[in-house]
Amino acid sequence: MKRKKAGPSGIPDIPLQRTSQAKAAEAGIASVREGRLKLYDERADNVRRFLDLIKERITRPVAASMVGCVHCGLCARSCHYALTRPDDPTMTPVYKADQIRRVFKKHLDWTGRIVPWWVHARVPAGDEDLVRLKNIVFGTCSMCRRCSFNCPMGVDTAVLIRWTRGILTELGIVPEGVFTVNRDQWETGNQMGVSDRDYLETLDWMADELRTEPGMSGAVVPVDRPDCDFLYVINPRVIKFDPRSIAHAAKVFHAAGESWTMASLGWDMTSFGLFSGDDRLGARIAGAVYEAADRLRARRGIPIRSLSTIPATSPAPGGSSASRAASCGPSARTSGRWSPTEPRIIAARVGADCCPRRSIVPSGSRSPGSRPISFGRPAPSSPARCATIVSTA
Ligand code: SF4
Ligand code: SF4
Repeated sequence: MKRKKAGPSGIPDIPLQRTSQAKAAEAGIASVREGRLKLYDERADNVRRFLDLIKERITRPVAASMVGCVHCGLCARSCHYALTRPDDPTMTPVYKADQIRRVFKKHLDWTGRIVPWWVHARVPAGDEDLVRLKNIVFGTCSMCRRCSFNCPMGVDTAVLIRWTRGILTELGIVPEGVFTVNRDQWETGNQMGVSDRDYLETLDWMADELRTEPGMSGAVVPVDRPDCDFLYVINPRVIKFDPRSIAHAAKVFHAAGESWTMASLGWDMTSFGLFSGDDRLGARIAGAVYEAADRLRARRGIPIRSLSTIPATSPAPGGSSASRAASCGPSARTSGRWSPTEPRIIAARVGADCCPRRSIVPSGSRSPGSRPISFGRPAPSSPARCATIVSTA
């Protein structure tokens, strides 16, 4: 059978854009000055630095995914990029992973030294190759991990992609948009560059709006209230584009009679470092939330999208529908550890059904792993009324 000729590749051909980097350098912003936010240096030997970082950052899971692939191609069936462009081999997970795998093989693996032609071992020839790698790892993979579930060898392509992103971020070889969001999160503590004043004024505004609704005259959006059961943290996008989510959450807390608060510092629940591969940024932002929890002595944390799935018309507790534990989605990865991409977990005293995808189980019979985000403090009193709601949003 005649082999079908591959069409043009869907890999974006985007040069390294440096407008924002140049402005950041010119402005001498703190994160650049202090070396936290990295800029591209065209005079540096970036290929050498890239290879050094590969050696420095290699871990056992990364190495396992580097050597584990048998090139069976099964993962292509699960990748939405490959499914969207079925005739384009460069969209398959194995192709994307191979672009970093071949460097690993040349640089660190014995196969690349003995049979380099067989394993296609190759190091980048110059910065152009690194820019192409940038376009692959940032532009053709959403790190959804569907391919990992389809791989008989347990290869985790998303881990390789994120790992490579982190190395390129260290070299300043990132898309312009990634650079600006990294910059904003380093500089302001939130990924949308929302000022403290805008944040606090928006909370006030939402509280005022909420109190105009029937039965909500006593509702508040508390800030920095100590010793609450719940610390509510949000996506900064909410402040910028649709703060009504905050009013909706406040309504649920008010109807449930919960003790809750928001924080004036450490309120961004998103971790752009997770996306860009910048572990230090991820640690800084997640750390700020934990610091807020410590400072306020909050018992549990609630990321935003968990509450947004609860109908704003939830009945007050005590009715025929008793408090329930609701879980949404698989719990295979809900080990109880809170990381930015793990399922959102909340606990609230509401007696309401949630989204149609949710399965409702009685309070006290949570599925394994459906644990609230705990800051290591005693759970709220009256556990009989306390339900846990788990969402993979
Ligand atoms: S399914 Fe796994 S082993 Fe097969 S090509 Fe994809 S990553 Fe490699
Ligand atoms: S992790 Fe990346 S390569 Fe794998 S299925 Fe998702 S988008 Fe495709």
